[in-house]
Amino acid sequence: MTATDIGSSNEPNGQAQQINGTNKTFAQLQIIDENQHFTKDLPKYMKEEWELADCGFNYNLVAVFGSQSTGKSTLLNRLFGTNFDVMSETARRQTTKGIWMSRGRDMSVLIMDVEGTDGRERGEDQDFERKSALFSMATSNVIIVNLWEHQVGLYQGANMGLLKTVFEVNLQLFQAARGKEKTLLLFVIRDHVGSTPLANLSNTLTADLERIWDSVSKPEGLEHCTIKDYFDFMFTTLPHKILLPREFEQEVVKLRERFVNPNNKDFVFKPNYNKRVPADGFHVYAEGIWDQIMSNKDLDLPTQQELLAQYRCDEIATIAFENFLGKIKGFRQPIESGKIIDDLGPQMEEIRNTTIKQFDKDASRYHAEVYKRKRQEVLQKANSQLHVFFLGQLKNLTKKAINTFNSRVQEKLKGEYDFAEVVSSSREEAEEFFVSGANAILLPDTDWTFDEELTQLKESISDIAAKSRTEETKKMVKALEKLFQSQVNEFVSLYFKTPANDMWDKIIKKFQQVLNNVEDQLLKRLRSFNATEEENIKTVSSLRKRSWLQLRKKIDDELADNMFLLKLRERFEEKFRYDDDGLPKVWKPEDDIDAHFRKARDEALHLIPIFASIQVPDDAGLDIPSDEELDFESSLTILTETRQHDLSVRFKRESDAFYLEAKRSVVATTAR
Ligand code: GDP
Ligand code: MG
Repeated sequence: MTATDIGSSNEPNGQAQQINGTNKTFAQLQIIDENQHFTKDLPKYMKEEWELADCGFNYNLVAVFGSQSTGKSTLLNRLFGTNFDVMSETARRQTTKGIWMSRGRDMSVLIMDVEGTDGRERGEDQDFERKSALFSMATSNVIIVNLWEHQVGLYQGANMGLLKTVFEVNLQLFQAARGKEKTLLLFVIRDHVGSTPLANLSNTLTADLERIWDSVSKPEGLEHCTIKDYFDFMFTTLPHKILLPREFEQEVVKLRERFVNPNNKDFVFKPNYNKRVPADGFHVYAEGIWDQIMSNKDLDLPTQQELLAQYRCDEIATIAFENFLGKIKGFRQPIESGKIIDDLGPQMEEIRNTTIKQFDKDASRYHAEVYKRKRQEVLQKANSQLHVFFLGQLKNLTKKAINTFNSRVQEKLKGEYDFAEVVSSSREEAEEFFVSGANAILLPDTDWTFDEELTQLKESISDIAAKSRTEETKKMVKALEKLFQSQVNEFVSLYFKTPANDMWDKIIKKFQQVLNNVEDQLLKRLRSFNATEEENIKTVSSLRKRSWLQLRKKIDDELADNMFLLKLRERFEEKFRYDDDGLPKVWKPEDDIDAHFRKARDEALHLIPIFASIQVPDDAGLDIPSDEELDFESSLTILTETRQHDLSVRFKRESDAFYLEAKRSVVATTAR
């Protein structure tokens, strides 16, 4: 074995090589290069190379500090199975500055190898020393401080300068977390000869640390804080690697136990060392810290945690929301085309819950307030997307409810019905359908309501009910008019057969009687319509008016010119051509034909004034309202003066024929 390959993880040597061939050596990444640039590859390494991105809080981070060439990289490689560069004994080149990272073999531990932490030794400025110390403190749970045994007690040594920096930096970072979050400093004393026991070494170191701590200037309010408020300490020794290789390897194996075995009494990863950075956000956090360090801004971890949380919660929310949008896409088409999606409510809730769950899974690990706020944002955003479907479905429910109402009313009106009852039961059914459908899509944690839509539905139903009531009334009035008409036709024809002075009296009284009867029926039906008194009065007076017009029409039909002339002729013939016993007259020469003729004709003509106008008896109680369609007073006139004159002229002409016929018949009889 040559010195060159000491520390190489490929070395098939010693018990430290408990790692068998199937165990993976993870790749290393220079996360901060010699130009102090932060790598872009960290997310990829976390995920693909180190397979840690999904482990949440279940990982730890170990960094190493110490002078150049004190065997730091060698130790890390032995302990963690990493593959960090080890300075070759033969070619004593200086390792480049920077921070390397890898994953420990068989453990969820990130290992950071910090090079060039002791600028003092090289006589360089301490800029990078301070920066890498800040970075390591902000990220690591455990810091290994690596030093030679002979460095112990050299209070003024390079190591001590570095430790002072670490303490100062720590105070800046963790002020607020005093006593709650700590970092473990694990001192590994190398090339331990054995003449000075560990207890003595650790006492010396502790005393030095206290002195350094005292020399660090404390921020206001923290003047009396102790080193133990921020740090836990562990001390251990390792034998000389080259002189006592077997012992060295044995001790390394023991030391490794502290990192992998939680039951080990010296297990290093206590919960309060955890920096509470979820693995999926580590790259963001680490880069943010480094940016802050580089820009020389004040660095405090609570702010960094918050910034990280905002960034990551946004990322997580975006992914969750994209999934959400994909899942709700399917609702759009059916709702826009008017369909009612049966289980829309449960479906929306399920999708929203899945989205929130997906968000929670990763985001809940981050800064509690930021997480809560972003969660609320996701919920609101999801709700406002779903609200569109809620409104769409309400619209479709309204349509369906109205259709249901319409068809129920139509169905029920076909049978025997009480209109008000039909409307109210149909309304109940329609409204119940709407309300239960709307309730089923109300999601918890929303301010959704459907009060307005319900009010609108009720109004629409009322409108439709009013319209259908008007129609039903019309239908009913028409039916009653028909009934009325048949009765009127009968009695008008009857009374006109025997025209006399009391004819109108009888007709009007009969009319009034039939009308009263029909009106009673109408009112009885109207009462089931829930219409207003005003509407009922209107309906009744319209019925009266139309009935009157029917009577008038019947009268006009009966008294058309030819019909009327026939009536006159009948009356004339009755008097002129038949004797008092109703037998046909045979004219004898001694008969006064002229006188007979005149009397008969006068009697016939006497009918004209009787029919000329309707005589309304005072006690008939007739109350026909006039309007633009009907002027009651003038409707009483049946035959105008002109028509009366025409009729009498025409009748006289016709009757002349009878006169001549009578005369001729006497002549004929005499001549025989
Ligand atoms: P680093 O610069 O602190 O990372 O040190 P390296 O791990 O690169 O080692 C520097 C040199 O020290 C190498 O040549 C190693 O072989 C050697 N070395 C490693 N471990 C030990 C040790 O325990 N004792 C001694 N004396 N030398 C060591
Ligand atoms: Mg090294």
